[in-house]
Amino acid sequence: LTTLLRRPLAASARPERAVDGEVLLETVGLTKSYAGADGELPVLGGIDLEIRAGEVVALLGRSGSGKSTLLRCLAGLVPASSGTVSYRGRALNGANPGTAMVFQNFALLPWLTVQQNVELGLEAQGWNAPDRAEAARQAIDLVGLDGFESAYPKELSGGMRQRVGFARALVVEPDVLMMDEPFSALDVLTAENLRGELMELWESGRFPTRAIVLVTHNIEEAVLMADRIVVLGSRPYGTVQATFEVGQDRPRDRNSPAFEELID
Ligand code: ADP
Ligand code: MG
Repeated sequence: LTTLLRRPLAASARPERAVDGEVLLETVGLTKSYAGADGELPVLGGIDLEIRAGEVVALLGRSGSGKSTLLRCLAGLVPASSGTVSYRGRALNGANPGTAMVFQNFALLPWLTVQQNVELGLEAQGWNAPDRAEAARQAIDLVGLDGFESAYPKELSGGMRQRVGFARALVVEPDVLMMDEPFSALDVLTAENLRGELMELWESGRFPTRAIVLVTHNIEEAVLMADRIVVLGSRPYGTVQATFEVGQDRPRDRNSPAFEELID
């Protein structure tokens, strides 16, 4: 925890503060329902949200509140039912070119090596083999997996697998890094190390990502990592219940009444 508590101090050293940054992602009146056996299941009920350059935004809420759905809409992986999602002012039509995603369960292909898994995103973008190999090696080095290029996922610990997940996302140099509960499959210490390292890397500017959207149901994680916390409620369907600026007028104490009321 002590490593993580350094973050709020480091944040003030960022060149671009959240409030001043360019709007990278924006939703206006975003709704989403899924088609189910008994008709439409409404999941998001009108979300207005901005993600600006320089900020880490946590999407916090109970299971089923629509956090993953919102993240996927922002990434253009699922289409909105109504309303708009835009990246740098342009409405999305398909996958968001400015984002890359890190998943809770790592989503690595078990029959591919670390190197091959990391190269996947670049292949889709039409990179040639030598450039792919070099970019992947750099990303693998960045996440501390130098020397594991030829290993298969099953030979790695959970923490190392998620490092591969980070390398695969970062290799495409996303403008906005999207993370869906990236630490929740890891043990507490591994999660803490990985969080701390990621934030240090980001704040040191060693990869060019300008904003991070983190989905979590862990209040402590949201408080420690984010500049802004967006709380999604799920009744009757997902809407923004509240937003907090971290380290400003918002209590950092997870036991504060305001927090507990919001999460219930
Ligand atoms: P969270 O990430 O906050 O747990 P989700 O966005 O995963 O929430 O899910 C919100 C609701 O939408 C849940 O009721 C879930 O069952 C439903 N849902 C999610 N994905 C789909 C899908 N692809 N098809 C149908 N229903 C879905
Ligand atoms: Mg989810």
